[in-house]
Amino acid sequence: MHCPFCSELETKVIDSRLVADGNQVRRRRQCLSCSERFTTFETAELVMPRVIKTDGTREPYNENKLRNGLMRALEKRPVSTEQIETLISQLESELRATGEREVESQHIGNILMSKLAQVDQVAYVRFASVYRCFQDIEEFGQAIAGLNKGKHIKAQEDL
Ligand SMILES: [Zn+2]
Repeated sequence: MHCPFCSELETKVIDSRLVADGNQVRRRRQCLSCSERFTTFETAELVMPRVIKTDGTREPYNENKLRNGLMRALEKRPVSTEQIETLISQLESELRATGEREVESQHIGNILMSKLAQVDQVAYVRFASVYRCFQDIEEFGQAIAGLNKGKHIKAQEDL
């Protein structure tokens, strides 16, 4: 691929390793022209089932939306980006494994919560009781972010 700094076509891979539970390849590259280094992530592009929202409407599965929701939700939590990527790739493996063309957003929520329980017990306990009523992952993420904010403000008041 082109160097993002000088657009030179020739770059070499200087390090390559599996991340996100082996579902992603992380490559360190160096430009042969300007010597700048950068990182690329490679994942297989596989078809995901469509998402059935609780109001019955359908939407395409959106990994970025899910990632943004999780990032927001776990902003103040001791959860690494790598853990979030692992969580997402595990979720996607499970969804593909169902073989279904469509999957209920609630089912995604359930998988997500069980994964979250393994990653961050506090986040899980705090949010497990509320996620079920949300329309989609984005709304879920926003609500969790809101709860985090609330806790943050309360913590400041306690000081
Ligand atoms: Zn370059």
